[in-house]
Amino acid sequence: MLRLTNTLTGKLEDFEPSDGQRVRMYICGPTVHDYAHIGNFRTFVFEDVLRRHLKSKGWEMFEVMNITDVDDKIIRRAIAEGVDIRTYTQKYIDAFLEDSEKLGIEKPEVIARATDHIPEMVALVEKLIEGGFAYREGNSVYFRISQFPPYGRLSRLDKKELRAGARVEVDDYDKESPQDFVLWKAPRDDAEPRWETPVGTGRPGWHLECSAMAMKYLGPDIDLHCGGVDLVFPHHENEIAQSEAATGKPFVRFWIHSGHLQVEGEKMAKSAGNFYLLRDLLDRGFDPLAIRYLLVSVPYRKQFNLTFDGLHQAAQSLDRIREFLFRLESARLGDLSNPGVTAALDTARREFDQALDDDLNTAVALAALFNLIKAVNTALDRGEVSAGDRDQIREWIGEVDRRLGIVPAPTPVPATDGPSPNGHDSESRAGAEALIAARNDARRNRDFQKADQIREQLTGMGVLIEDTREGTRWRYR
Ligand SMILES: [Zn+2]
Repeated sequence: MLRLTNTLTGKLEDFEPSDGQRVRMYICGPTVHDYAHIGNFRTFVFEDVLRRHLKSKGWEMFEVMNITDVDDKIIRRAIAEGVDIRTYTQKYIDAFLEDSEKLGIEKPEVIARATDHIPEMVALVEKLIEGGFAYREGNSVYFRISQFPPYGRLSRLDKKELRAGARVEVDDYDKESPQDFVLWKAPRDDAEPRWETPVGTGRPGWHLECSAMAMKYLGPDIDLHCGGVDLVFPHHENEIAQSEAATGKPFVRFWIHSGHLQVEGEKMAKSAGNFYLLRDLLDRGFDPLAIRYLLVSVPYRKQFNLTFDGLHQAAQSLDRIREFLFRLESARLGDLSNPGVTAALDTARREFDQALDDDLNTAVALAALFNLIKAVNTALDRGEVSAGDRDQIREWIGEVDRRLGIVPAPTPVPATDGPSPNGHDSESRAGAEALIAARNDARRNRDFQKADQIREQLTGMGVLIEDTREGTRWRYR
């Protein structure tokens, strides 16, 4: 049984979709005023792992992600560049989808742009005005939080903090002063984009879009709603207020939030000089798979500390998996199945599934993978792995990849002559082969220290080796 920590109750609860078949999940997507940063992707990668795990239960997924393509910042920047907001945001939407693909994030069933859903938002505002939950002030419309008694339940706000009648215009505001929030905003000047609608000339406030789009695609009561912990207040609190005031039904059964991200132990901020877009890390040469691995390796509710050391270690962990797969593919295998390998595989399978069922404990799930690698490496050392064992191991590693998306693709063993697939020249190949010959001499002379040193040297050159009964096989990483 899958258990998830529900922010609404603060407890671990058993999850299954309300109809037992189809998971209706909403995730707050990016605000496309810029390229997405690594903190954004921490959340999107966790949501992807959740999605993959839900699918593994045999449930059908119906996931909706919004794209906020109108807000204060977007409007300011589009005006500064002299382009309309659709043009301004398209570039960042394309970049976001490209970045997501690089990180192996599966596409939701629906990706909804806010500016494509103005009529749905206006209908919601009309409903809230009719019900007495919203009021006009000037040419804008606000939500009256005093009219919605459960306000503050998700974020456990102290009711004394509520300032009845105080209003906030901006899309995001301080936790210290919960106030009536804007649903529909009149333009501040002639340059601002606007829609002519029955609730006035203007544009939607940020919170409105998620309620309108979630309910349009998923209905009034959805199974799962996810986001980063920084969205709990005010964004998700306001989503609940808008949706439940309009429908009278509980909006979301499970609210799931990922923890904060830090960089080298500090809060990530442009002013601190530790602000990283995903693109900055790729430009520095980090493999997107290593970035994903690192993000996956920390359970989603924990605070995540991004360090360059951590990224290097993630790359090393991928190397261990890569080397293991290479070894598994190139080793000479026996005919007799090894019950020890079968038992290790059963344990790995069980521990992996239990870990992910336990509030997506990805750290323990990865430990199950590495325990298996260790056990099978030992069996390979003794020549005690059969072809049948290998097939089962391969199949399970395939499952690990479907669930976590962190298994590197195996590199084919290069032909002994002709150009290598990695573009290494014949000189570097000859150098590698000379070192391998020297290592084999050292092993014959039982100088294992020297043999290990040469192996390390080869690893440093990106050369992976595997000792088989037919001799040493090698390839570039
Ligand atoms: Zn949202």
